[in-house]
Amino acid sequence: MIRHEGRVYRPPSEADSLILQATIGCSYNECAFCGMYRDKRFRVRKLEELCEEIDWAAAELGDVQKVFLADGDALVAKASFLAALCEKLREAFPRLRRVSCYASPQALAVRSVEEMSMLRELGLTLYYLGIESGHDTVLERLVKGVDASEMIRVGQKAGEAGVKLSTMILLGAGGRELSQAHARESARVVNAIAPRFVSTLVMTPVEDTPLWEQAREGGVDELSPIELACELRTFLGELELEGSIFRSNHASNYLALAGSLPRDQARMVASLDAVLADPEHAAFRPEWSRGL
Ligand code: SF4
Repeated sequence: MIRHEGRVYRPPSEADSLILQATIGCSYNECAFCGMYRDKRFRVRKLEELCEEIDWAAAELGDVQKVFLADGDALVAKASFLAALCEKLREAFPRLRRVSCYASPQALAVRSVEEMSMLRELGLTLYYLGIESGHDTVLERLVKGVDASEMIRVGQKAGEAGVKLSTMILLGAGGRELSQAHARESARVVNAIAPRFVSTLVMTPVEDTPLWEQAREGGVDELSPIELACELRTFLGELELEGSIFRSNHASNYLALAGSLPRDQARMVASLDAVLADPEHAAFRPEWSRGL
Protein backbone atom coordinates (compact mmCIF):
# COMPACT_ATOMS: atom_id res chain seq x y z
CA MET A 1 0.00 0.00 0.00
CA ILE A 2 0.98 3.68 -0.16
CA ARG A 3 2.36 4.84 3.19
CA HIS A 4 1.72 8.56 3.38
CA GLU A 5 3.63 10.24 6.19
CA GLY A 6 1.94 13.21 7.84
CA ARG A 7 -0.28 15.55 5.93
CA VAL A 8 0.20 15.40 2.16
CA TYR A 9 -0.31 18.48 -0.03
CA ARG A 10 -0.76 18.58 -3.79
CA PRO A 11 -1.74 21.23 -6.36
CA PRO A 12 -5.47 21.31 -7.23
CA SER A 13 -4.70 20.06 -10.75
CA GLU A 14 -3.22 16.84 -9.34
CA ALA A 15 -6.52 15.76 -7.76
CA ASP A 16 -6.69 12.57 -9.83
CA SER A 17 -2.96 11.76 -9.72
CA LEU A 18 -1.23 9.05 -7.76
CA ILE A 19 0.64 10.89 -4.98
CA LEU A 20 3.98 9.36 -3.99
CA GLN A 21 6.12 10.89 -1.26
CA ALA A 22 9.55 10.77 -2.88
CA THR A 23 10.80 13.10 -0.14
CA ILE A 24 9.39 14.04 3.24
CA GLY A 25 9.02 17.72 4.12
CA CYS A 26 10.79 20.64 2.45
CA SER A 27 14.58 20.99 2.42
CA TYR A 28 14.24 24.77 2.66
CA ASN A 29 11.20 25.08 4.99
CA GLU A 30 11.73 28.78 5.74
CA CYS A 31 9.06 30.68 3.77
CA ALA A 32 7.25 32.94 6.24
CA PHE A 33 3.76 32.16 4.91
CA CYS A 34 4.12 28.37 4.53
CA GLY A 35 3.03 26.01 7.25
CA MET A 36 2.89 22.85 5.18
CA TYR A 37 5.98 21.03 6.40
CA ARG A 38 7.01 22.74 9.64
CA ASP A 39 6.42 19.55 11.62
CA LYS A 40 8.55 17.39 9.28
CA ARG A 41 12.30 16.90 9.15
CA PHE A 42 13.43 16.75 5.53
CA ARG A 43 14.61 13.45 4.11
CA VAL A 44 14.66 11.55 0.84
CA ARG A 45 12.77 8.27 1.07
CA LYS A 46 14.32 4.92 0.27
CA LEU A 47 13.96 3.89 -3.34
CA GLU A 48 13.06 0.31 -2.36
CA GLU A 49 10.10 1.51 -0.26
CA LEU A 50 8.85 3.63 -3.13
CA CYS A 51 9.24 0.73 -5.59
CA GLU A 52 7.11 -1.44 -3.28
CA GLU A 53 4.43 1.27 -3.25
CA ILE A 54 4.55 1.54 -7.03
CA ASP A 55 4.20 -2.25 -7.40
CA TRP A 56 1.22 -2.14 -5.05
CA ALA A 57 -0.38 0.72 -7.02
CA ALA A 58 0.18 -1.09 -10.33
CA ALA A 59 -1.57 -4.19 -8.95
CA GLU A 60 -4.40 -2.38 -7.12
CA LEU A 61 -5.05 0.82 -9.05
CA GLY A 62 -4.20 -0.31 -12.56
CA ASP A 63 -4.14 2.37 -15.15
CA VAL A 64 -2.30 5.30 -13.52
CA GLN A 65 -1.67 8.15 -15.98
CA LYS A 66 -0.43 10.94 -13.72
CA VAL A 67 1.93 10.82 -10.76
CA PHE A 68 2.74 13.70 -8.41
CA LEU A 69 5.95 13.42 -6.39
CA ALA A 70 5.44 14.97 -2.94
CA ASP A 71 6.43 16.60 -0.53
CA GLY A 72 7.59 20.18 -0.80
CA ASP A 73 10.53 20.06 -3.18
CA ALA A 74 11.15 16.50 -4.43
CA LEU A 75 13.32 17.95 -7.20
CA VAL A 76 16.08 18.55 -4.66
CA ALA A 77 16.72 14.78 -4.37
CA LYS A 78 19.66 13.41 -6.37
CA ALA A 79 19.06 13.22 -10.12
CA SER A 80 20.08 9.52 -10.14
CA PHE A 81 17.41 8.77 -7.50
CA LEU A 82 14.73 10.67 -9.44
CA ALA A 83 15.78 8.94 -12.68
CA ALA A 84 15.46 5.49 -11.08
CA LEU A 85 12.05 6.48 -9.72
CA CYS A 86 10.84 7.73 -13.12
CA GLU A 87 12.08 4.56 -14.81
CA LYS A 88 10.23 2.41 -12.29
CA LEU A 89 7.05 4.45 -12.84
CA ARG A 90 7.32 4.01 -16.62
CA GLU A 91 7.73 0.25 -16.26
CA ALA A 92 4.83 -0.04 -13.84
CA PHE A 93 2.37 2.23 -15.64
CA PRO A 94 2.48 1.81 -19.45
CA ARG A 95 -0.04 4.62 -19.98
CA LEU A 96 1.76 7.15 -17.75
CA ARG A 97 1.36 10.63 -19.29
CA ARG A 98 3.29 12.77 -16.85
CA VAL A 99 5.15 12.96 -13.59
CA SER A 100 5.21 16.29 -11.74
CA CYS A 101 6.51 17.76 -8.48
CA TYR A 102 6.87 21.00 -6.55
CA ALA A 103 10.19 22.70 -7.25
CA SER A 104 11.51 25.27 -4.81
CA PRO A 105 13.91 27.90 -6.26
CA GLN A 106 16.57 26.28 -4.07
CA ALA A 107 15.98 22.88 -5.71
CA LEU A 108 16.04 24.45 -9.18
CA ALA A 109 19.36 26.08 -8.30
CA VAL A 110 21.03 22.75 -7.58
CA ARG A 111 19.65 20.85 -10.61
CA SER A 112 21.57 21.33 -13.85
CA VAL A 113 19.82 21.86 -17.18
CA GLU A 114 21.23 18.49 -18.33
CA GLU A 115 19.78 16.70 -15.30
CA MET A 116 16.38 18.33 -15.78
CA SER A 117 16.39 17.42 -19.51
CA MET A 118 17.31 13.82 -18.71
CA LEU A 119 14.50 13.61 -16.13
CA ARG A 120 12.07 15.22 -18.56
CA GLU A 121 12.83 12.50 -21.08
CA LEU A 122 12.02 9.96 -18.38
CA GLY A 123 8.62 11.60 -17.79
CA LEU A 124 9.18 14.35 -15.15
CA THR A 125 7.72 17.02 -17.39
CA LEU A 126 6.02 19.52 -15.05
CA TYR A 127 7.19 21.50 -12.01
CA TYR A 128 5.06 23.68 -9.73
CA LEU A 129 7.04 26.76 -8.73
CA GLY A 130 5.85 29.28 -6.14
CA ILE A 131 7.25 32.57 -7.44
CA GLU A 132 5.01 34.42 -4.93
CA SER A 133 6.32 37.86 -5.93
CA GLY A 134 8.73 39.50 -8.32
CA HIS A 135 9.41 42.37 -5.91
CA ASP A 136 12.68 42.03 -3.99
CA THR A 137 11.38 43.61 -0.78
CA VAL A 138 8.34 41.35 -0.78
CA LEU A 139 10.46 38.26 -1.48
CA GLU A 140 12.70 39.23 1.41
CA ARG A 141 9.74 39.70 3.75
CA LEU A 142 8.39 36.32 2.71
CA VAL A 143 11.84 34.79 3.44
CA LYS A 144 11.73 33.14 0.05
CA GLY A 145 15.52 32.81 0.05
CA VAL A 146 15.98 34.26 -3.44
CA ASP A 147 15.60 37.66 -5.06
CA ALA A 148 13.80 38.36 -8.33
CA SER A 149 16.86 37.95 -10.53
CA GLU A 150 17.65 34.54 -9.02
CA MET A 151 14.00 33.52 -9.42
CA ILE A 152 14.24 34.42 -13.12
CA ARG A 153 17.52 32.55 -13.50
CA VAL A 154 16.25 29.28 -12.00
CA GLY A 155 12.88 29.53 -13.78
CA GLN A 156 14.60 30.02 -17.12
CA LYS A 157 16.82 27.01 -16.44
CA ALA A 158 13.74 24.79 -16.22
CA GLY A 159 12.47 26.31 -19.47
CA GLU A 160 15.82 25.60 -21.13
CA ALA A 161 15.48 21.97 -20.09
CA GLY A 162 12.08 21.86 -21.81
CA VAL A 163 10.20 21.34 -18.55
CA LYS A 164 6.76 22.95 -18.22
CA LEU A 165 6.32 25.27 -15.26
CA SER A 166 3.15 25.99 -13.36
CA THR A 167 3.79 29.14 -11.34
CA MET A 168 1.96 30.81 -8.47
CA ILE A 169 1.81 34.46 -7.42
CA LEU A 170 0.56 35.48 -3.96
CA LEU A 171 -1.89 38.35 -4.22
CA GLY A 172 -1.73 40.69 -1.27
CA ALA A 173 1.86 39.71 -0.39
CA GLY A 174 3.09 43.30 -0.76
CA GLY A 175 0.51 44.69 1.64
CA ARG A 176 -1.22 47.94 0.80
CA GLU A 177 1.88 50.04 0.30
CA LEU A 178 3.60 47.74 -2.21
CA SER A 179 0.45 46.32 -3.81
CA GLN A 180 0.90 47.89 -7.25
CA ALA A 181 4.68 47.49 -7.32
CA HIS A 182 4.28 43.83 -6.30
CA ALA A 183 1.80 43.33 -9.16
CA ARG A 184 4.05 44.98 -11.75
CA GLU A 185 7.28 43.30 -10.62
CA SER A 186 5.55 39.93 -10.41
CA ALA A 187 4.36 40.34 -14.01
CA ARG A 188 7.92 41.26 -15.06
CA VAL A 189 9.35 38.10 -13.48
CA VAL A 190 6.59 35.88 -14.90
CA ASN A 191 7.13 37.41 -18.36
CA ALA A 192 10.85 36.64 -18.14
CA ILE A 193 10.23 33.04 -17.10
CA ALA A 194 7.35 32.48 -19.60
CA PRO A 195 5.74 29.57 -17.74
CA ARG A 196 3.07 27.35 -19.31
CA PHE A 197 0.67 28.02 -16.41
CA VAL A 198 0.26 31.09 -14.17
CA SER A 199 -2.08 31.25 -11.23
CA THR A 200 -2.75 33.58 -8.34
CA LEU A 201 -3.65 32.80 -4.75
CA VAL A 202 -4.57 35.24 -2.01
CA MET A 203 -1.96 35.32 0.75
CA THR A 204 -3.56 34.07 3.95
CA PRO A 205 -1.78 33.83 7.33
CA VAL A 206 -1.70 30.20 8.41
CA GLU A 207 -1.34 29.19 12.05
CA ASP A 208 2.16 28.38 13.36
CA THR A 209 3.98 30.40 10.71
CA PRO A 210 6.00 33.61 11.08
CA LEU A 211 3.37 35.36 8.94
CA TRP A 212 0.69 34.34 11.45
CA GLU A 213 2.72 35.88 14.28
CA GLN A 214 3.24 39.07 12.26
CA ALA A 215 -0.51 39.22 11.54
CA ARG A 216 -1.33 38.81 15.26
CA GLU A 217 0.90 41.75 16.04
CA GLY A 218 -0.88 43.81 13.39
CA GLY A 219 2.08 43.74 10.99
CA VAL A 220 0.24 42.33 7.98
CA ASP A 221 -2.22 44.30 5.85
CA GLU A 222 -5.26 42.27 4.89
CA LEU A 223 -6.21 43.73 1.54
CA SER A 224 -9.92 44.10 0.85
CA PRO A 225 -11.45 42.11 -2.01
CA ILE A 226 -11.56 45.24 -4.15
CA GLU A 227 -7.89 46.06 -3.41
CA LEU A 228 -6.99 42.50 -4.39
CA ALA A 229 -8.99 42.85 -7.63
CA CYS A 230 -7.10 46.07 -8.36
CA GLU A 231 -3.76 44.31 -7.80
CA LEU A 232 -4.81 41.41 -10.01
CA ARG A 233 -5.91 43.86 -12.72
CA THR A 234 -2.43 45.39 -12.83
CA PHE A 235 -0.71 41.98 -12.80
CA LEU A 236 -2.88 40.52 -15.55
CA GLY A 237 -2.70 43.68 -17.66
CA GLU A 238 1.12 43.61 -17.60
CA LEU A 239 1.53 39.97 -18.59
CA GLU A 240 3.11 39.49 -22.00
CA LEU A 241 2.95 35.77 -22.56
CA GLU A 242 2.42 33.65 -25.65
CA GLY A 243 0.56 30.37 -25.19
CA SER A 244 0.27 30.36 -21.39
CA ILE A 245 -2.79 29.51 -19.36
CA PHE A 246 -3.90 31.85 -16.56
CA ARG A 247 -6.11 30.88 -13.64
CA SER A 248 -7.26 32.69 -10.55
CA ASN A 249 -9.99 30.23 -9.70
CA HIS A 250 -8.51 28.73 -6.54
CA ALA A 251 -10.93 29.05 -3.63
CA SER A 252 -8.81 31.79 -2.04
CA ASN A 253 -9.51 34.12 -4.97
CA TYR A 254 -12.65 36.22 -4.91
CA LEU A 255 -13.12 36.33 -8.65
CA ALA A 256 -12.76 33.22 -10.76
CA LEU A 257 -10.91 33.94 -13.98
CA ALA A 258 -9.37 31.49 -16.44
CA GLY A 259 -8.17 31.71 -19.99
CA SER A 260 -5.36 31.44 -22.50
CA LEU A 261 -2.87 34.26 -22.94
CA PRO A 262 -2.87 36.42 -24.91
CA ARG A 263 -6.16 35.27 -26.49
CA ASP A 264 -8.40 35.81 -23.43
CA GLN A 265 -6.37 38.54 -21.74
CA ALA A 266 -8.56 41.47 -22.82
CA ARG A 267 -11.73 39.63 -21.73
CA MET A 268 -10.29 38.87 -18.27
CA VAL A 269 -8.97 42.41 -17.82
CA ALA A 270 -12.42 43.72 -18.83
CA SER A 271 -14.05 41.49 -16.14
CA LEU A 272 -11.76 43.02 -13.54
CA ASP A 273 -12.44 46.53 -14.81
CA ALA A 274 -16.18 45.81 -14.54
CA VAL A 275 -15.74 44.70 -10.91
CA LEU A 276 -13.57 47.72 -10.09
CA ALA A 277 -16.17 50.02 -11.62
CA ASP A 278 -19.02 48.27 -9.81
CA PRO A 279 -18.11 46.21 -6.72
CA GLU A 280 -21.71 44.90 -6.66
CA HIS A 281 -20.96 43.07 -9.92
CA ALA A 282 -22.46 39.57 -9.97
CA ALA A 283 -19.14 37.84 -10.80
CA PHE A 284 -17.49 39.19 -7.68
CA ARG A 285 -17.64 36.95 -4.59
CA PRO A 286 -16.23 38.90 -1.65
CA GLU A 287 -18.24 36.68 0.70
CA TRP A 288 -15.96 33.74 -0.14
CA SER A 289 -13.89 33.17 2.92
CA ARG A 290 -10.13 33.37 2.69
CA GLY A 291 -7.95 30.35 2.65
CA LEU A 292 -10.57 27.65 2.06
S1 SF4 B 1 9.86 26.21 -0.61
FE1 SF4 B 1 7.68 25.74 -0.86
S2 SF4 B 1 7.27 24.04 0.54
FE2 SF4 B 1 9.26 24.91 1.14
S3 SF4 B 1 8.77 26.39 2.78
FE3 SF4 B 1 8.78 27.53 0.83
S4 SF4 B 1 6.63 27.49 0.09
FE4 SF4 B 1 6.85 25.89 1.70
